[in-house]
Amino acid sequence: MPETLIKVDLNQSPYENEQIHNRWHPDIPMACWVKPGEDFKLETYDWTGGFIKNDESADDVRDIDLTIVHFLSGPVGVEGAEPGDLLVVDLLDIGAKEDSLWGFNGFFSKNNGGGFLTDHFPQAQKSIWDISGLYTHSRHVPGVKFPGLIHPGLIGCLPDPKLLETWNTREMDFIATDPDRVPPLAVPPFAKTSHAGKATGDVKTKIAAEGARTVPPREHGGNCDIKDLSRGSKIFFPVYVKGAGLSVGDLHFSQGDGEITFCGAIEMAGWVHMKVSLIKGGMEKYGIKNPIFKPSPITPNYNDYLIFEGISVDEAGKQYYLDVHIAYRQACLNAINYMTKFGYTPAQAYSILGTAPVQGHISGVVDIPNACATLWLPTQIFDFDINPSAAGPVKSVTTDVPMPLSPDVV
Ligand code: ZN
Repeated sequence: MPETLIKVDLNQSPYENEQIHNRWHPDIPMACWVKPGEDFKLETYDWTGGFIKNDESADDVRDIDLTIVHFLSGPVGVEGAEPGDLLVVDLLDIGAKEDSLWGFNGFFSKNNGGGFLTDHFPQAQKSIWDISGLYTHSRHVPGVKFPGLIHPGLIGCLPDPKLLETWNTREMDFIATDPDRVPPLAVPPFAKTSHAGKATGDVKTKIAAEGARTVPPREHGGNCDIKDLSRGSKIFFPVYVKGAGLSVGDLHFSQGDGEITFCGAIEMAGWVHMKVSLIKGGMEKYGIKNPIFKPSPITPNYNDYLIFEGISVDEAGKQYYLDVHIAYRQACLNAINYMTKFGYTPAQAYSILGTAPVQGHISGVVDIPNACATLWLPTQIFDFDINPSAAGPVKSVTTDVPMPLSPDVV
């Protein structure tokens, strides 16, 4: 039996657990140590540390203080790891915590986080997804059921002081270009809600003042939200500090490419069983700047998709130059509009794109002026026929429990 090196109690605040942290900083003390070749388990909170509840209100999604996230388990020190090495991580298995077999998906209010389609969905909403073995379904989004492509949204190693300085400088400079933007361009260090694991005294204060927020993916990996980084994957991480300092959290039971709903994929508390090893001097040997990985040998076996195209012309008809962000947004909006013809509300359709194993592809980036992006919707997740036909769409979805919605308080 692999040893569980980090345990979490979902009834306890993550701030009271010394093996949890929510900032990136080289001085965060290792939560535990392992030897190369060892396998072990880590338990994790959901990314909000239990703030979002399994209930019929989206007030929690509306009111959450986003400076508290993400609660990560670690850092795990690896004996013998040195800057310049590659840390090889085998994700042997991942699962939901036995006492918490559900997950959530939501849209943040435009005034508190927003999301990919925040101009179309500016108010807080959520859906709850029950986990039943391999499968998930939702009382708020009927008509779909799919197996989980379970993965950590966030995994990576601690930065060294120079890399941390690079991150903080470039992101602060970026924020300064439009400091009042809603939602903001990036998020700076924020001391008040920092959790620095076992750190105490001056070290804790330093980490709180300088610690990089965990929101963006960066050179070390971090919050990449790659759905294909699922159980069975093998990841190669750049090592920046002695011991590497591997941390993981933000587990997703399932997610569509892009994690477009932002208040997650299907967010859950759970555990990760992993094994670590080292490639000495691997960063230089392989010319690695960002992590690389090998995918899982098992993936949901969908072979039929309805594929929506989008081009880099926005909703108002404005032309953009080869902009894949705009193009993917159009592909998603086209898919949402299509799904409403079968009885879904736009919000339910948006939830499906955030949670189900939909694929996003960059299809063309050279045909000026339009980029083309595609959204691949697996037809087999639906319990009705969602294909177009001469007979026209059949209203197939009846909703008994509407998706909770919580307008902003003015
Ligand atoms: Zn997440």
